[in-house]
Amino acid sequence: MFENVAGPIHVLISRSFDSNIVFLDCDEHKVLIDTGTGMYSDRLDKDLTSVGCSLAGITDVILTHSHIDHIGGVGPILKESSPVIYLHKSEAEKVNSGDMSLTLANTFGANLPPIHIDRVLEEGDVIDLGSIKLKVYSTPGHSSGSICLGIDDFGILVTGDTLFAGGSFGRVDFPTGDPKKLVKSLKRISEMDFNVAIPGHMGMIRHNATSSARSSYEMARSMFRV
Ligand SMILES: [Zn+2]
Repeated sequence: MFENVAGPIHVLISRSFDSNIVFLDCDEHKVLIDTGTGMYSDRLDKDLTSVGCSLAGITDVILTHSHIDHIGGVGPILKESSPVIYLHKSEAEKVNSGDMSLTLANTFGANLPPIHIDRVLEEGDVIDLGSIKLKVYSTPGHSSGSICLGIDDFGILVTGDTLFAGGSFGRVDFPTGDPKKLVKSLKRISEMDFNVAIPGHMGMIRHNATSSARSSYEMARSMFRV
C-alpha cells in the first residue's frame, strides 16, 4: 500500500527485490519515481488505485538509475500508457543505443524490452511537474548515472540507491560502481538541507535526514578508506 509522506507525495515501501516506488499526484502529471522489477506490476496497478491512479494513468516515469529493480517495471507500464521517461545522461545514452547491460537484467535472468529514454537528465535540471518541482542532483557511485531528486518545498530528498537509512548506502560492486565517487556523493548529500529522505530500498529516514546522511558518509569513508 502507498503511504502518504506529505501533500501529493506517496511512497510504496517494497518488501521484495523491487525498489521502493514513489507516486507524485501533481494535477495533470501522475508520476512514478522508480518502478520496481516489474514482477509485481499487477499489484502495483492495484496499489495505485488506492491513490486514485493506475498504470494506465501514469504520465511520467523518473528513474533514479537503470538497475533492473528500478527500471524493470517500465515494460508493464508501457503496455498501459505512454509516459515520458527520464534518466541521467550517462546511463540514458547507453539505454537509448539499445545497450541494456547496465540494467543487470541478464545477471538476474530478467527479460527487459528495449526502452527509449525521452528526457535525458543532467546535474542542475529542474523537472517542473506543476505543483511540484524536482531538482536533479548527479550523485554517482552506486552507478554512473545515479541521481537524487530534491523536493525543496517539502524538505524531502529521494535518494535512490545512493543513501539508505541507518548509516547505510548503496553497493559499489556493480559495473559502473565507484567507491570514491560514492563517498563524494554522500558528503554532498550530508551537506544539503532536507529533513526526510526516501531511499530506493528499505525504510524512509523520517527526521534529521542530513545527520543520518552524515553517518552514512562517515561509514563509507572509513570502509573505503578515502
Ligand atoms: Zn541499484
